[in-house]
Amino acid sequence: MSENVSSLLYIVAGVLFIMALRGLSHPTTSRQGNLYGMVGMGLAILTTLVGHPPAGFGAWILVLLGLGIGGGAGAVIAKRVPMTAMPQLVAAFHSLVGLAAVFVAAGALYAPQAFGIIENGHFHKQSLFEMGLGVAIGAITFTGSVIAFAKLDGRMSGKPIMLPQRHLINALLAAGLVLLIALFIGTESKAIFWLIVIAALVLGGLIIIPIGGADMPVVVSMLNSYSGWAAAGIGFTLGNLALIITGSLVGSSGAILSYIMCHAMNRSFISVILGGFGGDTAAAGTGQVETRPVKQGSADDAAYIMKNAERVIIVPGYGMAVAQAQHSLREMADMLKKEGVDVKYAIHPVAGRMPGHMNVLLAEANVPYDEVFELEDINGEFPQADVAFVIGANDVTNPAAKTDKASPIYGMPILDVEKAKTVLFIKRGMGSGYAGVENEVFFRDNTMMLFGDAKKVVDSILKSL
Ligand code: NAP
Repeated sequence: MSENVSSLLYIVAGVLFIMALRGLSHPTTSRQGNLYGMVGMGLAILTTLVGHPPAGFGAWILVLLGLGIGGGAGAVIAKRVPMTAMPQLVAAFHSLVGLAAVFVAAGALYAPQAFGIIENGHFHKQSLFEMGLGVAIGAITFTGSVIAFAKLDGRMSGKPIMLPQRHLINALLAAGLVLLIALFIGTESKAIFWLIVIAALVLGGLIIIPIGGADMPVVVSMLNSYSGWAAAGIGFTLGNLALIITGSLVGSSGAILSYIMCHAMNRSFISVILGGFGGDTAAAGTGQVETRPVKQGSADDAAYIMKNAERVIIVPGYGMAVAQAQHSLREMADMLKKEGVDVKYAIHPVAGRMPGHMNVLLAEANVPYDEVFELEDINGEFPQADVAFVIGANDVTNPAAKTDKASPIYGMPILDVEKAKTVLFIKRGMGSGYAGVENEVFFRDNTMMLFGDAKKVVDSILKSL
């Protein structure tokens, strides 16, 4: 296959990836988007294999083994992983992209002839720069993602760990990395290459360790962006157009998503990139238990209140995902609609444990898209609502975000559920949410707590209805 044809096919794959991103931006088109992505990836792999076939039988076996083991493991993991564990899975996958960038750069350094990046015994300067930068971003992505995985998976405390002088240490390490890359380009030294790897591995860990659990969604998205740039770096080293396009798409879309999430959580984008943002106050899931009295109700009470309401706004959160209550919830909403109640769903941008978590679950339960509203589109409607039905959500409804400057969630826009005539809170007990802070709304006069597993409570309400 000529270079021109393979470049053209890579561009077609790139267009398919762009269409995939476009499709994934809405639940109605997301399956189609996934399909475009799969076809694009298939085309890119085939073009690479036909355009630059592995040299010899042994190399073919290695490539096929890699595809089989990697693809097989990916398929099994994707099938088995519960939706609630998706963020840590994404973090784990990002770590592999980072590691791949390190290995490819090392491969290029030790076998430069295979990559065509050496002439008269000297590396091309441009290739040295790509290798140095790519390996640095890859190593930062690797340890950063491993720490994010450990925090999200509960293997490491979600609490921010404040290292003394962390900003100074990070700045020195970053400056050291720039210096090492310059030295590497000048000397072509393998020892300096590995020093870059070590410094970047340490920096990746140090950037993520101080970040508190509540800020993890932004971190995962930021690492997504880093892994994209690392892949683009590999693309330059390998001279592979498809990798450059894909890496840049992942890098830029991850950066845009990080920016949107920072905006949604009222965090500064620059401080996220530098690491340790909001970490001085953030704390994850302390599980504190409150002893003040609350008004408690039964499923019958909830059914009665909602049947007689005109407008009900449902606010789903992480607890709905844990209980897998979305199907029962949809049935409940259908029954209420039959009774003439106007039912809407309000989605907070960081409800659950990953961006779009609630949208995916509601789509899975066939909730009509025109009943699902984003925070800014529905927040003004709570004062006119008779009932705010909060199912397994907590932090995203906490008004401390508006008033308490010391709160780890201060500044995050929240859903104004307390403005509804009645607030029904479904949760198992008085446990705090992800950010580990108390929610004043539980103790308000217009709040009724419905204690129990979200699915069981909704099923009981269904029976009463
Ligand atoms: P949340 O604040 O974590 O609260 C979830 C609540 O659900 C808990 O208070 C818990 O109370 C309850 N719960 C747990 N299991 C339940 C079950 N089986 N049945 C009923 N209730 C159950 O959730 P959120 O309001 O959705 O807020 C999301 C939080 O996660 C934010 O702080 C956000 O920053 C963070 N976060 C978001 C993402 C993302 O991208 N969306 C990623 C990582 C972190 P009980 O224990 O009393 O039942």
